[in-house]
Amino acid sequence: MAKEIECPPCGEMIRGNNDDELVANVISHAKDHGHELGEADRGEILSTALEM
Ligand SMILES: [Zn+2]
Repeated sequence: MAKEIECPPCGEMIRGNNDDELVANVISHAKDHGHELGEADRGEILSTALEM
């Protein structure tokens, strides 16, 4: 199931074709844009993701 999540700091939509890809993309995006991931972990990321 493809999922997407809106990056809280910048509002960009981040998508993934599955849970693993979404989490990897979120982490990669955070690094690229200098966001602090803080306490966010895999479970937290997925709990706020939207199914497309
Ligand atoms: Zn962002």
